[in-house]
Amino acid sequence: MKIQDHAFAADLQNWINEHLSPYTPTSKAEKLVSIHSLVRELAQSNLLTRGWPAPYGDNDIRKQLYLHFSLARQALGAVGLCLASHIDIGTRGLLDKGSPELIDKWLPKALTGDAIFSLAMTEPDAGSDLQGIQFTANKSEEGWILNGVKRGITNLPFADAALVLARTNPSRSPFSYSLFLVPIETAGITREQAVPTLAYHGCLGGISAKDAVIPLDNLVGPFGAGLMLLMKHLETERLFVSARMLGISTYLIEELILHTRNSPQCALQADNVARLKMQLMAFEAYFETCVNAFEEGELSAKDSAALKYMGSSLLKSASNTLADYSGAQGYLRGTPAIRFTTEAMGLALAGGSEEIMLSIIGNTL
Ligand SMILES: Cc1cc2nc3c(=O)[nH]c(=O)nc-3n(C[C@H](O)[C@H](O)[C@H](O)COP(=O)(O)OP(=O)(O)OC[C@H]3O[C@@H](n4cnc5c(N)ncnc54)[C@H](O)[C@@H]3O)c2cc1C
Repeated sequence: MKIQDHAFAADLQNWINEHLSPYTPTSKAEKLVSIHSLVRELAQSNLLTRGWPAPYGDNDIRKQLYLHFSLARQALGAVGLCLASHIDIGTRGLLDKGSPELIDKWLPKALTGDAIFSLAMTEPDAGSDLQGIQFTANKSEEGWILNGVKRGITNLPFADAALVLARTNPSRSPFSYSLFLVPIETAGITREQAVPTLAYHGCLGGISAKDAVIPLDNLVGPFGAGLMLLMKHLETERLFVSARMLGISTYLIEELILHTRNSPQCALQADNVARLKMQLMAFEAYFETCVNAFEEGELSAKDSAALKYMGSSLLKSASNTLADYSGAQGYLRGTPAIRFTTEAMGLALAGGSEEIMLSIIGNTL
């Protein structure tokens, strides 16, 4: 991935080497370290929000994308997913859409690692179809009364707060949903145990709410605009997921090139690796086009969906090839090959599945 600010790239690399090298590149990386302390250390090194708008950074989206690309490029698995979800999905959502009071109260804690954020949309019976969510928020004199379940959400096993999409009207109209900042310690909110997963262990979790009351001021954005806000936010999220996919694919294809050089079936495998390398080059070029469009304020829903779809296909092919070329080793629990095939499955869903990307593209034809 291209970056103009080489000093930033070097500082980031040094930071990763110093703080995260014990977690690369094999299954050990799946052991989740404290995201609270990693955020604190990234902030202390002035690397957390360097690409955010002033006064937090210099408004260079490439720096934020490069952060997530670099973590993924070094096979940092769960650590990378959790940091990306906290910084550029959850906390950035608060900065972009929260009221000045909510920002004053929560942003400083989020930027020092004292509060970790999630973005909670998915439920046991509603993922792709967000208009089917059952989590409700009803207005009362005391505040918003919350009821329902969110599950399969990054960071929720240890998050301190979440931006939660809730139904505020029984109809399926796009204006029936609103976004709320929900402190997880609220009475009536119960944190579910981390969901057992094939990759990203300890990252995904849920909450259930039973008559939990949050302040009226915890509405994020206009009443009834939650789904619209999230649709726009998801377009940006897909750019970040794509940066992660680019990072992991780059790592995998470098591994495959090394593997092929030392393999007795070198000639046959080299053709397949060359094919993957070409796909990576095409994905990289399209990624650059999309980042440029984002910088101009012109990234379309179609392009962000197509980019994510392209990354997802490449990552699945590259991880399957690594598993295949590892022979029986590729079938062993805990090996890098298995880890990457399962990570590829997870990233294909995060930010919307491949079928949903196709339907977004199809709707624009
Ligand atoms: C690693 C990871 C991190 C995640 N992090 C978060 C998070 O932080 N916050 C959050 O809210 N969620 C998160 N999710 C959940 C993710 O957003 C959902 O898994 C995703 O939206 C799909 O929803 P679902 O799992 O309910 O599957 P479903 O929606 O039930 O889909 C199952 C299958 O049916 C297909 N399908 C569904 N609808 C259609 C349709 N209309 N046309 C054709 N095919 C269709 C899908 O493509 C998919 O293949 C995460 C998931 C993963 C794996």
